[in-house]
Amino acid sequence: MATELKDRIGIVEGDITTMDVDAIVNAANTTLLGGGGVDGAIHRAAGPELLEETRRIGGCPTGEARVTKGYRLPAKWVIHTVGPIWTGGDKHEDVLLANCYRNSLGAAVEVGAATLAFPSISTGAYRFPLERAVRIALKETKSFLEADQTVQKVIFVCFGGEVYRAYQEALDEVFD
Ligand code: ADP
Repeated sequence: MATELKDRIGIVEGDITTMDVDAIVNAANTTLLGGGGVDGAIHRAAGPELLEETRRIGGCPTGEARVTKGYRLPAKWVIHTVGPIWTGGDKHEDVLLANCYRNSLGAAVEVGAATLAFPSISTGAYRFPLERAVRIALKETKSFLEADQTVQKVIFVCFGGEVYRAYQEALDEVFD
C-alpha cells in the first residue's frame, strides 16, 4: 500500500513550463499579475491570454488557489497558488504553505486533472527554508492522495540540483 502511494509521486529536475501534464501549479503572488521566478516563466510560456484571465480573477489570498487555462502551455490548466513569505516561522508560514498544497490539489480535483506538477512553492524569492518546505509539500500531498483517486500522479519539478536532492532526501522519510 505504501509503495503504491509512493509510485504516484515523481521528482524530476527541470522547467515546469515544459511539463506535459493536465495541470501545473504556479507559485504566484497575491495580485496574480505575474512576477519573477517560476511565475514569470509560466506567463511567458503561456502567452498574454493568461494575464488577461488572471486580471479578471482579480487576486488570490495567501494559501488559496485559483485555476486558469494553460493557453500555449502543454498543460491544460494552471493552478495559481500564493505561498507565504518566510519571516522566521511565527506568522503561520507552515500552515499557509500546507494550505497551498492542499488547495492546489483540491483545485486539480475540481477540474478533473489526473496529472499535476508542482514547483517548490515559496522557496525562491519568498525564502522559505528548503528542507522544511519539501517536507510540508510531501506530507500534505501524501495525505491528500491517500484520500483521493482523481489525481493519479503528482510530479515535483525541481529547478536545480539542490531542490532535487532535498526532495529525494525527504521522500523516503515521509513515505516509508
Ligand atoms: P516564490 O516567490 O514562491 O519563492 P519563486 O519563483 O521565486 O517563487 O521560486 C519558487 C521555486 O521555483 C524556486 O525553487 C525556483 O528556483 C523555482 N523555479 C524558477 N523557475 C522555474 C521553472 N521554470 N520551473 C520550475 N521551477 C522554477
